[in-house]
Formats: sequence, C-alpha cells, structure tokens
Amino acid sequence: MNRKIFIYANDSEMSRKTEKRLKQKLDGSGFTILPAYNADADLLVCIGGDGTFLEAIHRFDFPDMPIIGINTGHLGFFQEIMPSMLDDFIFNYSQGRYSIQQLSTVQVSVKTENGVSRHVGLNEVIIKGRSTCSIHLNISIGGSFIERFSGDGLLIATPAGSTAYNYSLGGSIVDPRLKILQVTPIAPMNTTAYRSFTSSILLPSDLSLGVVTDAGSKQDGVSIVYDGYMNDYKEIQEIEVSFSDIQVSLMRFENYDFWTKVKSKFL
Ligand code: NAP
Ligand code: MN
Repeated sequence: MNRKIFIYANDSEMSRKTEKRLKQKLDGSGFTILPAYNADADLLVCIGGDGTFLEAIHRFDFPDMPIIGINTGHLGFFQEIMPSMLDDFIFNYSQGRYSIQQLSTVQVSVKTENGVSRHVGLNEVIIKGRSTCSIHLNISIGGSFIERFSGDGLLIATPAGSTAYNYSLGGSIVDPRLKILQVTPIAPMNTTAYRSFTSSILLPSDLSLGVVTDAGSKQDGVSIVYDGYMNDYKEIQEIEVSFSDIQVSLMRFENYDFWTKVKSKFL
C-alpha cells in the first residue's frame, strides 16, 4: 500500500536523528515520504514535544488526516510513541492496528470595527488584559448575562487542553470523550469590591460564552491567546468563545488509555 507520509520535526538533535532513522525505515517499507506538506497526505508524523505538535497543527491549519506524535520533548502528552518504538509503529500502521482519538477544539471570534477575526485552539483560548492592571469582563452564557469577571483573565480549555495551563490554574482534568468546554478563571478577585466565580465552570458543546469588556473600567486592550499564540486587540466590540467543529485526529495504538497516560505524566 503506497501511503504518503509527511514528517514534521523540531530542530533538536534527538528529533533530527529520529527523523533520519524514520525516513530510512519508511522508505525501506515502501511508503512515500513527501518532501513538503500536502493536504492530501495520509499521515502526518510530528517529532518533538507537545509544543512542536501544537506548532504543526497551527502551521498546517488543523490537518484533516491522522497525526502521530513521536516524543523527543519534555512532557509529550499528545505524543504517542518514543523514538525507540519506530519498528513497532511501522508494523502496527501497516497492519491497520491503531485507533483514532478525535480531539475537539475551541474557537474564538473577536469582533472589532474592522470586522471579525477567528482563532482556533486545540488546548485553550485565553482572554486577558494587555496591561498589568486587572481586567473586567462582562460574561454571558447562552445569551444570558452571568457575571462581571475581575482578575487576570479567563481561560477556556478543551478536554485535550485540560491537562495543560488549565491544570496549573486548578482546573479539572477532563476525559477527551466528553464534548465540553471548561471556563477557568485566572486569578479571579473576590472582595467586597469585585465578585467573580473562583472555580471552573463547564459548558455543553452547544452553549457559547459571550464576553464584552466592561465599558466603565479603563482598559488598554485585550490579548487573545490560543495554544500559546497571541493576538492583541484594541476596541473590541464583542468576543464569542464556542465549541468548534474542527477536530484533530490522533493515531493511538493498542495500549493507549487516556487515564493511564494522565497517571504516567502527572503522578
Ligand atoms: P510551553 O510553555 O513550553 O508548555 C508548557 C508545558 O505544557 C510543556 O511541558 C508542554 O509539553 C505542556 N503541554 C502542552 N500541551 C499540553 C497538554 N495538552 N497536556 C499536558 N501538557 C501540555 O509551551 P508549548 O510547549 O508551546 O505549549 C503551549 C501550551 O503551554 C499552551 O497551550 C498552554 O496550555 C501551556 N502553558 C502552560 C502554562 C502553565 O502551566 N503555567 C503557562 C503557559 C502555557 P512539552 O514539554 O512536551 O512541550
Ligand atoms: Mn514546550
């Protein structure tokens, strides 16, 4: 079977070595290695850590193909195999012995007088102030006003991103089979002057979060961060964060189990 594979690697020495070995092995097994990314490749191999994985999916605009990660980074939560497992990987892939884990994404639409910009995150979207001052945001859920948030910002995590920044903020770890969004406050203020939810809240996939910067407070613009990529905005009219239809398809092998992976990476 002549399948077309594109390999994306970061430039660490370990990644370069792994890429070279993988190319030789795939070549020897009759696969075609694409010299440049092509949207109709059969498989994207990503060599690096989670950061490299996120970089690849953004660079190639959320590829509509299975992706396999080889971990040469630090944590490697998305990454399925280690560089020592290349032969097993090629054997299992050739035999069709794998499953696809579908990961959902989160989208943010930012409306300004210049139009609407849209960004998609696999881990999360963050809304925060550009200055060191606290930010005040009026939040609605499904069109109903819920709270005036005060603090550093809000992080809206996908289940896949629940183990990343969300977890450091005290958010919950969510099984990726659940189709939800988790809204986690970043340093919420809770005093007689300001009142905000201090825990995460969970939203079903058909409810969106509306955010309007509070007109009464002085603000120096808003930063929107998605998977570590930042865009600054001034004079935002409205922000909407919702569940996105775009999915990322991760190749997983026989022993993959989300909770076993969580245990091995966190405990
Ligand atoms: P980074 O600052 O190098 O990433 C921080 C750590 O998060 C790395 O160890 C990375 O793994 C890990 N990571 C990324 N996605 C993960 C996931 N879904 N589950 C568990 N761990 C995950 O930046 P980066 O590597 O480009 O990754 C971007 C992500 O970093 C952002 O989406 C955000 O979630 C996270 N982040 C976390 C904090 C925090 O926890 N305080 C602060 C800023 C950003 P690797 O070592 O394999 O790359
Ligand atoms: Mn990283």
